[in-house]
Amino acid sequence: MAKYKLEYLWLDGYKPVPNLRGKTQIKEYESFPTLEQLPLWGFDGSSTKQAEGRSSDCVLKPVSVFPDSTRTNGVLVMCEVIMPDGVTPHSTNARATILDDPGAWFGFEQEYFFYKNGRPLGFPETGYPAPQGPYYTGVGYSNVGNMARQIVEEHLDICLAAGINHEGINAEVAKGQWEFQIFGKGSKKAADEMWVARYILQRLGEKYGVDIEYHCKPLGNTDWNGSGMHANFSTTYMREVGGKDYFEQLMAAFEAAKDDHIAVYGPDNHMRLTGLHETQSIDMFSWGIADRGASIRVPHSFIKNDYKGYLEDRRPNSQGDPYQIASQILKTISSVALA
Ligand code: ADP
Ligand code: MN
Ligand code: MN
Ligand code: MN
Ligand code: MN
Repeated sequence: MAKYKLEYLWLDGYKPVPNLRGKTQIKEYESFPTLEQLPLWGFDGSSTKQAEGRSSDCVLKPVSVFPDSTRTNGVLVMCEVIMPDGVTPHSTNARATILDDPGAWFGFEQEYFFYKNGRPLGFPETGYPAPQGPYYTGVGYSNVGNMARQIVEEHLDICLAAGINHEGINAEVAKGQWEFQIFGKGSKKAADEMWVARYILQRLGEKYGVDIEYHCKPLGNTDWNGSGMHANFSTTYMREVGGKDYFEQLMAAFEAAKDDHIAVYGPDNHMRLTGLHETQSIDMFSWGIADRGASIRVPHSFIKNDYKGYLEDRRPNSQGDPYQIASQILKTISSVALA
């Protein structure tokens, strides 16, 4: 038997976007615990904006489990928040609203800034560094500084050791801005892994005295790029049947549900979706082949393959909740009748 440190993670009740919360309990197991071996646990919902009425007890239900290479016998346990009856999802539990579909695949591209002393990492104390240009996928001290890459690499290694399905990382357009991509098969997998990867990144920042800034336009109305979280998605039908008629019906459904999508695509998105900087305006809906100025980008491969494959919704921003985003995308897809 060995004592394991179980870090239960969940999303609190803050609006418009939830924060990650976590606390540890120690339990003994013969070997690394499986999901089935992890018990329900409780917390004080009155401290996380999740208490309803007079009863402050909320319940944590483990939904996915990851080894934590930064701690001896460490375990990261992603949880849903449920009611004291042990079954009913809490009103803040967006994960429970995601349609169960093992054939749904998501790939999220998380952009973010490192921040130190209220400024992007690598910015001078006053004024601005040289304008954007060399930073995207850049190399060298002047372009990436002396700390960012170290954090990025360490984050990647911890995530890979946890079994999180990272597909890649890159330095982004603004100084101090980076991206990682996570892909997952199943309607909830990439979203679970995104929240755990965010947790690992924020926790790692503690060690370096650096915050992770997820706001979509932290430098306001300037020429510095904002941050998105493009959502790439496909279903079994899209990959295997597809077709021009179905695609056009799907895009009509996305256009009709435009406001429902924007509502969960992250706060302050009007600052980012301006029609400039490779975005479509927040008031418009469009799709386009290989068009980075469209709401939905259709990869060349999709057209070549008789309208089969995946699509990229470019509107979700860096601060969006991947649970709410996946939930809305699948809701809109499921409103379209299959041939
Ligand atoms: P770009 O920056 O050009 O948009 P990225 O490589 O950063 O491209 O992101 C593309 C994303 O698309 C990846 O996260 C990848 O996992 C995802 N993706 C690829 N194929 C599929 C698919 N069939 N279904 C859903 N997502 C997919
Ligand atoms: Mn990308
Ligand atoms: Mn990017
Ligand atoms: Mn970008
Ligand atoms: Mn993209």
